[in-house]
Amino acid sequence: CFITFEGGEGAGKSTQIERLKARLSEMGQPVLVTREPGGSPHAEEIRAFILEGHAKHLGPFAEALLFAAARIDHLDKTIVPALTSGTHVLCDRFADSTRAYQGSLGNIDKGLIDRLETITLRGVKPHLTLILDLPAETGLARAGARQAGKGEGADRFEKEDLSFHQSLRQAYLSIARAAPERCAVINADQNPDEVAAAIWAALRERLPQ
Ligand code: C5P
Repeated sequence: CFITFEGGEGAGKSTQIERLKARLSEMGQPVLVTREPGGSPHAEEIRAFILEGHAKHLGPFAEALLFAAARIDHLDKTIVPALTSGTHVLCDRFADSTRAYQGSLGNIDKGLIDRLETITLRGVKPHLTLILDLPAETGLARAGARQAGKGEGADRFEKEDLSFHQSLRQAYLSIARAAPERCAVINADQNPDEVAAAIWAALRERLPQ
């Protein structure tokens, strides 16, 4: 199965991906963990270009095209080969991030995002998208603590204010409402064990095999 994880900063995506990977692996299921932007050597180069801050000069639509270019390479080199060989793919962010960040928050026309997504994905879509939802304040506090601890470089959250993250949350919830058969909203404002249990329940319910 192809499972994507979405959510704002500090939602706990990486932790939950590792936990789900461990659980599936214990059951003897082959699992590949990957991420966006990135996930293949050339897409990682595009990631570095974007996260170093170069892409912001291009504006949201050109930025969306860069994410799309990275996604095409990621699909072709990493995701599709793994799925074809029967490996589960757990992906940290995917097309819904472009829909939320560049589309909703960048004010790109929804029809344009739809068309871009169609030509980028070429029929490959996640079987399940887990949207890790929590109040923007909580996510920012968590992400801030993590960033301070690691001394990492600036992510988008350092440059944007609270209202940006509140809008981001609403953008994800509206994506979930528009695609309820694919998306499960997970309450991420609980401890990691509870979030992992909610994710496992969503998986059992949506992907019973
Ligand atoms: O998930 P991760 O924190 O690694 O994402 C890296 C950064 O890229 C984040 O700051 C996120 O806000 C940003 N991003 C973005 N547009 C996307 C995907 C990620 O602005 N489509």
